[in-house]
Amino acid sequence: MDGFYGRILKVDLSEETYSIEPIRDEILEKYLGGKGLASYLLYELNPPGVDPLDPANCLIFATGPVTGSAIWGSCRYGVFTKSPQTGFYSESYAGGKVPEAIDSTGFDVIVIQGQSAVPTVLGIHPEGVDFHEAGDIWGMDTFKAEDAVYERFGHSDAGFKRSGAVVIGPAGENLVRFAVIENDYWRSAGRTGVGAVMGSKRIKAVVFQGDRKRSLYDGNAVRAFSKKISLEGKDNPGAKAYKSMGTTMMVKIVNDAGAFPTRYWSEGKCEHWEKINADALHERCQVTPRACLKCFLACGRMTTVLQGRHAGLKLEGPEYETIYAFGGLCLIDSIEEIAYLNDICDRLGMDTISAGNLCAFAIEAARRGKIDYKIDYGDVDAIAELLKKIANPPNPTLAKGGRGDFEDIGDILARGIKFAAREWDLEDIAVHVKGLEPPGYDPRVLKGMGLGYATSDRGACHLRATFYKAELSGMIDPDVIEGKAELFMDFEDRLTLFDALILCRFYRDLYPWEQLKEIIHSVTGLDVDQKTLQEKAGAISDIVRRFNLREGMKPEDERLPKSLHRKLEKTGDIITEQELDHMLKDYYSLRGWNESGQLTS
Ligand code: SF4
Repeated sequence: MDGFYGRILKVDLSEETYSIEPIRDEILEKYLGGKGLASYLLYELNPPGVDPLDPANCLIFATGPVTGSAIWGSCRYGVFTKSPQTGFYSESYAGGKVPEAIDSTGFDVIVIQGQSAVPTVLGIHPEGVDFHEAGDIWGMDTFKAEDAVYERFGHSDAGFKRSGAVVIGPAGENLVRFAVIENDYWRSAGRTGVGAVMGSKRIKAVVFQGDRKRSLYDGNAVRAFSKKISLEGKDNPGAKAYKSMGTTMMVKIVNDAGAFPTRYWSEGKCEHWEKINADALHERCQVTPRACLKCFLACGRMTTVLQGRHAGLKLEGPEYETIYAFGGLCLIDSIEEIAYLNDICDRLGMDTISAGNLCAFAIEAARRGKIDYKIDYGDVDAIAELLKKIANPPNPTLAKGGRGDFEDIGDILARGIKFAAREWDLEDIAVHVKGLEPPGYDPRVLKGMGLGYATSDRGACHLRATFYKAELSGMIDPDVIEGKAELFMDFEDRLTLFDALILCRFYRDLYPWEQLKEIIHSVTGLDVDQKTLQEKAGAISDIVRRFNLREGMKPEDERLPKSLHRKLEKTGDIITEQELDHMLKDYYSLRGWNESGQLTS
């Protein structure tokens, strides 16, 4: 079928073997590629109930049918596994330049199982896999590891045109439950701990090389479509805003709405927002827009800090979510200091959203006398120190899942919010769903985000439906409950298909249903209307839900944490349990599931 290679690569690290297998067209037609195909394989191949850090847990890399084409926003890959952070389904995506190298290996999906006997760098190319011992790279931070991997394995004797690497940092090696996989220095598959799964397999890096291209059903139509979109994009206000401000524009928008999580989720407005917003970043630092391949939005911010103790620090970022996590939750009132904490997380290989949440949680624990540890709101140096302790917990046996005294704060936080909340008897205030901390949109103001956090398969996630867009742009009143699930599902279905193609969701305004149909037809040849596309999205949602139910997901795993049902301080905004129940009931019914969110067939 056009748009696909029709090949899966399966790697067994324990045996140092691999196989190349075909994929049936009917599976591709039903699930498309990317998230759809990877989720189907995760369901089929993962042993039910497997420990996420067990060698048998699959670590799946996927690109999509649009990868490598001229479609804008198409340079992305996804990672799929069972999450060590939540114990449920895990997906995480990243852009940059490397996704085209992954795709050039000529596989729709790469499934990695087993565990290497020694630290290893995998080399993947169209003919198969090379296993390189790499003990001396183990222990390096992500940037050094990337440099070392390119220097040693980046050339190609076979003359392949493309080459790209993904790496983990010390956090992934030490099985920190929210460790990331990084590429292009600053691009991360950031959520749900995919880096810890890679670390548990003793894979420090994967180098992808190749020269394969997907065959397109109608290459001329793809090129014409891209030309049309780039012309439309020129005058699109959203596109212009991404280019001029990146995601940092959200600081003002969300703070104005009163939904900017502040002081560990107790307030929705941040007093120092003007010191950490888009203007602060662009006026105080040297910033240039930076784009993934095949992108004219260029939301990335290549930043150089110009003033103060971090002058000279260069990074891509900080993005909105990092600003909220450290600037809002931890009350850091300087954009340069947030950039500094961002850089530490990048080098150690940790998700900044979870890291910021956990630091603020530790601050609350210290203030409430639950731990004897010197840290407080706004204390950058203590937070920086804590990040290093988390990434390098002193007792690796405990990090792997062993029991013990857990006297060290790094050991405790490395195992995630659920574990820390139990250890410190603070479950009453811990903010997470399924073990994943939410991003920077308070659901007491943006109530549809509450539905998204509760029902997202990977835990409290903003990206599956990006419903903040609907609620902040006036498409629907954020406070309304009636009828909200219907619009939410429309967003979620369309973006599920984005993930099956693996498209950047910041193109969502430029690719409504009609454009999505055009993309799918020109790439794969499938004649689809909106209804059949919604059915495909539904089939993908079903297989992921089937996976989570098999892994023990209960109705209580799709609730908001208690503290998000308490009033926001100062404004009194609230989302009640009844409001959430109402939206959940509507949503499950629209999905064709029963009142507990279970599949009926
Ligand atoms: S909008 Fe941002 S994340 Fe999306 S493709 Fe462009 S640069 Fe990458």
